[in-house]
Amino acid sequence: MVVELVVQNRTGLHARPAREFVNLARTFQCDIRVQHAAKTANGKSLVSLLTLAVKRGSTIRLEAHGADEAEALAALTAAVREGLSEGTGEGEAAAAPAEAGPVAISAPVDDPRLRRGVAASPGVAVGPIHQLRAPQPAAAPVVVAGPPAEERARLTAALTAARGELGEIRNRLVHRAGASEAAIFDVHVEILEDPELVSAALDRIEQGDPAARAWQAALDGRVAAVATLDDALLAARAVDLTDVAQRVLRLLGAGKALAPLPDHPVVIVAPELSPSQTIAFDAGRLLGICTAAGGPTSHAAILARALGIPLVVGAGPDVLSWPEGAAVVLDAAAGTVLCEPDATERSRAEAAIAACAERRRAEAAESGLPAITTDGHRVEVAANVASAAEARQAAVAGAEGVGLLRTEFLFLDRAAPPSEDEQRAAYAAVAAALGGRPVIVRTLDVGGDKPLAYLPMPPEANPFLGVRGLRLSLARPELLREQLRAIVLASPAGKVRVMFPMVADVSEVRAARAMLAEVAAEAKVPPLEVGIMVEVPAAALLADSLAREVDFFSIGSNDLTQYTLAMDRGHATLATRADGLHPAVLRLVERTVQGAHAAGKWVGLCGELATDPVAVPILVGLGVDELSVNVPAVPAVKAWIRAMSYERARVLAARALACATAAEVREKAVSR
Ligand code: PEP
Ligand code: MG
Repeated sequence: MVVELVVQNRTGLHARPAREFVNLARTFQCDIRVQHAAKTANGKSLVSLLTLAVKRGSTIRLEAHGADEAEALAALTAAVREGLSEGTGEGEAAAAPAEAGPVAISAPVDDPRLRRGVAASPGVAVGPIHQLRAPQPAAAPVVVAGPPAEERARLTAALTAARGELGEIRNRLVHRAGASEAAIFDVHVEILEDPELVSAALDRIEQGDPAARAWQAALDGRVAAVATLDDALLAARAVDLTDVAQRVLRLLGAGKALAPLPDHPVVIVAPELSPSQTIAFDAGRLLGICTAAGGPTSHAAILARALGIPLVVGAGPDVLSWPEGAAVVLDAAAGTVLCEPDATERSRAEAAIAACAERRRAEAAESGLPAITTDGHRVEVAANVASAAEARQAAVAGAEGVGLLRTEFLFLDRAAPPSEDEQRAAYAAVAAALGGRPVIVRTLDVGGDKPLAYLPMPPEANPFLGVRGLRLSLARPELLREQLRAIVLASPAGKVRVMFPMVADVSEVRAARAMLAEVAAEAKVPPLEVGIMVEVPAAALLADSLAREVDFFSIGSNDLTQYTLAMDRGHATLATRADGLHPAVLRLVERTVQGAHAAGKWVGLCGELATDPVAVPILVGLGVDELSVNVPAVPAVKAWIRAMSYERARVLAARALACATAAEVREKAVSR
């Protein structure tokens, strides 16, 4: 069967819509081919589909052969017509946000020290250059191939390990940058699993190549094919292919690990940057990035914007010969880079950086003030942290405490669990860093999608609905007991509260509290305040009875949204629809607040919703008592609260509860 279709979505078959197409195609048995112009691609291979360079408005021809061909074509036709779930507001095709900012460089355009590129992530940076090499596929070392079965097993193991690494990066990035940015690494997983790529590599192994050479050869051809496409957006995906190639080669012992940055702040200059490189560097040492090639729609650029790293792309090859360590001014407001600025140019740039920081400083200066609305209603603003260093920053940023200490940071990425002593020291360091402000230590929230190497668990079909959070802790009581003992022993260092994640009913809370009471009694430490995360709809619906069992609630709006709307919180194509302002989620927030307040308990909210400027007045109007946000957002959230009236917030909240969709809530909230 054959159908012809016009591709309607905004960016054509670029990475994420193509991934959507491929994922759907793979649910059918039949063979699916996609034709465009003179080329034909395997509809189940992302890499193959990308090389068609299908733009918006292009006609494609879908051909399917097999028992379920009619269903396949009907489903694919509908998906293509609906735009392959491409949200209109997503960043990939959008130009760099043109944040008006001070232009730091005024050197004449023909100044040989000046190079003009494209502003891809706003900001200004001054510092020494660090030249970074591009992620070239490393030449596979000359090794004698083992028997094909052995080489096949090596490749399979490396692909599995690469998938594990990408999963971890993705999980971390969801918190640092957001779900749709983290989904960039889903495209990388898709490349790893691409049937054409893997079978090309396996064919070469059969012919006697070692695994590394076979993988590199399979990738090389595709990288070249994608890089030479005349569509810049698609050609940029060659960097993603190379990035994936590098990762697997490294795991096969044939590539190089990324060299660390120098131990002082630098401006990176590179031919082009891969997504893995962009997120690999310590934010404190990375002032800005300039690339010779690349565009503002690359995945690296999307990540830089999400992480707040100033970036100029497409500055031309000359920048690659600028000397290591030479000073550079990078002006990502103007899209320029200036090597070896004179004293005036340098101080002008530094003044621009200072001006950019001024607004933030003004907010920060006021952030020590309480967040009290114009009509006298107080809301606490706390911070979400994962280390003592972040807790120190939180205190400086005006946080009134830590509303969520994610203890996973101690448990992930290691071969054995942290000892009780190590945990106690880590929690005590966070508590001590807060100078008397409270810290809510959330017990381990792993399992399912965040597996631990030392806690092997049977694979689960639906990890988000599996043995995770408090369920896992109660199933492995020795781990929970040890963690509770560490928290209790750390408690004299500050004002420590305990919080249990993923609670669905009272029996779980009672079991966990009983263990905590035993541990506290053994340690002869006074009882700690205990709260639970309200992130499962069941807990919100039972808030009145749960409130009698605990001292406080903290609403996890990220998970509460996911479970209420049945939309995976990290799903690339659902990201724009998985909106915590959905009235169903807001009604659960309302119910939680009512249940808690009736029992004289307080309610915080520690999900991403608390940093959304549209959501904050609604949450305040719903009666949420505390908002816990990422450290950099603390001063701004406090400033928003100080600028609003509680009476108005209550009107907005009532209006939002009466809406039918999240879009309607957003519309009504801004139309005031
Ligand atoms: C949440 O679910 O909103 C939350 C804060 O917890 P986490 O993001 O760690 O799951
Ligand atoms: Mg959660």
